[in-house]
Amino acid sequence: MATKSKKGSVWTSLPMQMMYGLILGVVVGAFISSEFATTWLQPLGTLFIRLIRMVVVPLVLATLIAGSAGLGNASKIGSIAIETILTFAVTTAIAVTIGLIVANLMDPGQGLNISTEGLQAKSATAPPLSQVLVEIVPINPVEALGKGNMLQVIFFAIMFGFCVSSMGGKAEMLTEFFQKVGDVMIKMTNIVMIYAPIGVFGLIAYTVTQHGLAVLLPLGKLILTAFVATVLFVCITYLPIIKIIGLNVLTYLKGIFEPWLIAFTTCSSAAALAVNLEASRKLGASKAIASFVIPLGNTINMNGTSIYMGVTAVFAAEVFGMDLTLTQQFEIVLMGVLAAVGTAGVPGAGLIMTTLVFTEIGIPLEAVALIAGVDRILDMIRTSVNVLGDSLTALLVSKFEGTLGKEPFETELEVQDPIG
Ligand code: ASP
Repeated sequence: MATKSKKGSVWTSLPMQMMYGLILGVVVGAFISSEFATTWLQPLGTLFIRLIRMVVVPLVLATLIAGSAGLGNASKIGSIAIETILTFAVTTAIAVTIGLIVANLMDPGQGLNISTEGLQAKSATAPPLSQVLVEIVPINPVEALGKGNMLQVIFFAIMFGFCVSSMGGKAEMLTEFFQKVGDVMIKMTNIVMIYAPIGVFGLIAYTVTQHGLAVLLPLGKLILTAFVATVLFVCITYLPIIKIIGLNVLTYLKGIFEPWLIAFTTCSSAAALAVNLEASRKLGASKAIASFVIPLGNTINMNGTSIYMGVTAVFAAEVFGMDLTLTQQFEIVLMGVLAAVGTAGVPGAGLIMTTLVFTEIGIPLEAVALIAGVDRILDMIRTSVNVLGDSLTALLVSKFEGTLGKEPFETELEVQDPIG
């Protein structure tokens, strides 16, 4: 229902303006040529993504330091970290499994009459697991920041925050300093968000010209399978979590609308990070927990990408006429979880990471090039879920820790009033 708030009608609110951008983008995209869209509209969207990603590295560093410093004593940090990692791990494993089961039932790759000849696969060669783990530790934290290596930034920030906290009062000013840096980054995001409706319009119009019906139809069953698996996952996993948190589903959906729309249109959970942090705080997550869980989850918790790993593995195996054994399916779950953890929150990252799963199972990598044709659409679906998973974990851990809804969000940082 349209109600008047003191900041104006809901019809002119920022989320609604973004929605108008989305609808207009679909309509305009259906009529313009792909050349026009590439030259004139894609840059509008790219500019939005660059603006919004500009804040990510400083935001993650500052919020994670302040977040882990503010979590309290070592045993409290331990319990929050365990609850967070367990929620990430369980939801991720359920996601890959649901992807696998739904794909096995819907057979997205069966009867597909597409020649894989001449397709060039982009591949990521999987480094050994030991190397991946060792390289989480940066040799030079400044280099990690410069290169935007998020796992390394996270590792350094959590250790830094832990040390700040263990020094007590002597280092208290640092917690405050990084808290303020995080707040400034959110303020910067709010200013950038004024441009969001135009950015969303550019992104969607461009996507429609590139992925019109002609491109989508042959792989429609793959998209449908990913969609069904995602809806099922949300119903089986997220609805009970929302219930445990004690939120009304509609209240949650309304609160998470903006981060979702950014994720859906940009296909980048990193781009949605700042707005997700703010939205989750407004929904009741405590500051320290949201500041710890959301930047961490943004990099390692990818429920949507996990579903996609399961679905694409079955799809690709079917396209190449391979019968997956139970052991192979189990391997897909394991590799899918690892691949999703290693996926960066940027557009198309999951597609590259499927090669880890495919290589493990022995699926020809040409399948990657086949999926690439519709990957943007699949990315919109999976990034949406990636972002929801982080906010729900922050809310759930806040609930477990008894801090849910106990710290009202500072109104001076509200999106609607970015300049004032
Ligand atoms: N685009 C996704 C994200 O930003 C990652 C992926 O490609 O799976 O969360």
